[in-house]
Amino acid sequence: MNRLHIHKFGIFLVIALTAVACIFTQSRSKKNSGTCSGRVVKVVDGDTYDLRLDDSRAIRIRMDGIDAPEKSMPFGKRAKQFLDSLCQEQTITIDSTNRETFRRFISFSYLPDGRELGKEMLKAGLAWHFKKYNSDPELAALEASARKARIGLWVDQPYVLPPWIVRKLNRQGYKIQSIYKAQREHLKGMHSAGCPDVHLCEAIKAGDAL
Ligand SMILES: [Zn+2]
Repeated sequence: MNRLHIHKFGIFLVIALTAVACIFTQSRSKKNSGTCSGRVVKVVDGDTYDLRLDDSRAIRIRMDGIDAPEKSMPFGKRAKQFLDSLCQEQTITIDSTNRETFRRFISFSYLPDGRELGKEMLKAGLAWHFKKYNSDPELAALEASARKARIGLWVDQPYVLPPWIVRKLNRQGYKIQSIYKAQREHLKGMHSAGCPDVHLCEAIKAGDAL
């Protein structure tokens, strides 16, 4: 093992132990079974933040039920700022059982007053209901209300590409700017005589219909 490997293994161990600590806490606690809590130390974007547990270890939380625009996407910075204003320095309680990997916990996140962070993001029109992984009609209704009220993401556009479509196209090699450019051209009817990139445009049309 060289030094890099030892370092990597150390990180893995800390994260693994943190996971164990959370599960251990929940099995012992009768009052708050299935939960653990800590203080928010960093907001990464509109659906991800870092939580420092009471024993000073930090874990990354990917908020369950929603998908927010990333920083490079329209409204990405605003979504991050809004989540920041909701939860920076706050004590958050999570249900830590849904661990995606050792690095990230997928969880709902509760403020001391009981509000759930993802629902607040949906109400503000700064996130999509992540339908692929969540079927809660309450979350779907919150997104629908925000769209109807034309707030946040929905303020002046009838359609906004969901982040999962943009990420997928991005993975396929399309630059973020070219994805939004093609979408704008579509909204203006500029491709009515024929799309210059059928694959890109079909994906955008499918995304717009969501
Ligand atoms: Zn087109």
